[in-house]
Amino acid sequence: MSSSAVWRPFTQHALEPDPPVIAQAEGAWLTDSGGRKILDAISSWWVTTHGHRHPRIMAAMRDTAESLDQVIFAGLTHEPAERLAAELVEIAPSGLSHVFFSDSGSTAVEVALKMALGFFRNRGEARTRIAVLEGGYHGDTIGGMSVGERGVFNAPYAPLLFEVERIPFPGGRGEQDALDAIDRSGRRGDLAALLVEPLVLGAGGMRTYTPEALARLADAARAHGALFIADEVMTGWGRTGTLFACEQAGLSPDILCTSKGLTGGAIPLAATLATPTIFQAHWSTDRAKTFFHSSSYTANPIACAAALANLAVWRDEPVRERVARLAQAQKRRVSRLASDRRFRNARSCGTIAAVDLQVEDPGYLADVGPRLRAFFMERGLLVRPLGEVIYLMPPYCVTEAELDLLYDAVEDAADRFGGPR
Ligand SMILES: *Cc1c(COP(=O)(O)O)cnc(C)c1O
Repeated sequence: MSSSAVWRPFTQHALEPDPPVIAQAEGAWLTDSGGRKILDAISSWWVTTHGHRHPRIMAAMRDTAESLDQVIFAGLTHEPAERLAAELVEIAPSGLSHVFFSDSGSTAVEVALKMALGFFRNRGEARTRIAVLEGGYHGDTIGGMSVGERGVFNAPYAPLLFEVERIPFPGGRGEQDALDAIDRSGRRGDLAALLVEPLVLGAGGMRTYTPEALARLADAARAHGALFIADEVMTGWGRTGTLFACEQAGLSPDILCTSKGLTGGAIPLAATLATPTIFQAHWSTDRAKTFFHSSSYTANPIACAAALANLAVWRDEPVRERVARLAQAQKRRVSRLASDRRFRNARSCGTIAAVDLQVEDPGYLADVGPRLRAFFMERGLLVRPLGEVIYLMPPYCVTEAELDLLYDAVEDAADRFGGPR
C-alpha cells in the first residue's frame, strides 16, 4: 500500500508503482521533484497542443484572475465567454452558430446527446435512437460509456448503460458495411443521431479511416433525417493535421464536441457547438422546451480566457506550419516501421502516429501494456500504449531530436518485447 490518499484514474493500484511527482512542466517536458526530465509523448493524455505552459495562455489566466472567478452563467454573462463563443463560431466548420459550455469531453458528449434528443422531442418527432461506431470512445460518464465500446472497462456498470446501434468500423474494407448498417438503421425512421470520432478512434486503438468515408457516413445518416454529431474532443485543435478533423471531409456536423486542446491543454473547458436549427428547436415561449443542462463551473472565466489565448496563438503563431511539419515527420518515421515485421499497421493521421507491436497475447489488458510503459519511463519517456498499440502524440513543439529519442525507444521496445523480425 502506498501512503498516497489519491485514487488515480485508470490505475490498478495493486500492480503499479508509485508515480513520479511532477514539479515542473515546460514545452514537451515534465520534470519530477528529483529533477529528472520526462518527455511527454502523449501530450498529457492528448490535451497539450502547443506545449506545456504556453506563456500567452498562462498570462491570460493570470490577468483574468485579477478581475474574475467563477460567475453563475444562467442569468448573467461575462466577456471571456461571449468573446470565446463568437470566436469559436468563426473558426468552427460553417453552419455551427451556438456554443454550449461545459467542463470535460464526457460532458460535451452528454450535452450533444441531450441536444439531439431535445431537438426531436421539441419538434414532435419520435426519434430517440443513437448510432455509434464500433470501437468508439466518448468518455467515462454513464452516457459516455453507453455510446462507447463495451468491454472490461465498463462491464460492471453495464446495467446502467443504455443501448445504442453499433456501426462497423469504416476503415479499410469496412466502409460499405458501415454505410449499409447506417442505411438499415435509418430505415426504421427513429434514428436521432450518428455520433462518431472523425478520422481516428482514439482510445479504441488509434484506428484511422479516410475523410471520404467520414463524409459518406454523415451523408448516410442525414439521408434518413438523423443528425450527425462529431466528437472532436481528441481530434480537434490540429491533432489530425487540420484545426478540426471534419474539415478534411468538407463536412459541417450538426453538433460538434470539443475539449482537450480547447485551452491548449492548460485548464479544463469544453464546448458543444450546434446549428441554428437545433438552437431554434429549443427557442420557445414554452418553458418545457428549455435546454435543461448546467454544470456549476459552466464557462469559467479563467478557462475561457485560456481558450481565447489559445485561439490567439493559433492566429498569431505558425501553428499550422508546426502541425504540418510534425505530421510530415510522423508519417516519414512511422512508415519506416511499416516493413518491419515486429510491427503491424504502421499508421499516422496528422500529428498522431501508431504501430501495433507483434506480441504473443495482444489485448488492452495484456501485460505488455504496463511493461512497455515502464520500459519507456525508465528512459524518461512518457508513452502509454493501449495494450500492444504504441502511439506517439506529442505536443507540436516537439523537435526532431526528441522524435529521435522516441522512435529509437520504440525500436528498442520491439527488440525487447516484440515477436520475431
Ligand atoms: C478523451 C475523450 C473524451 C472524454 O473527455 P474527458 O475530458 O476525459 O471527459 C470524449 N471523447 C473522446 C473522443 C475523447 O478522446
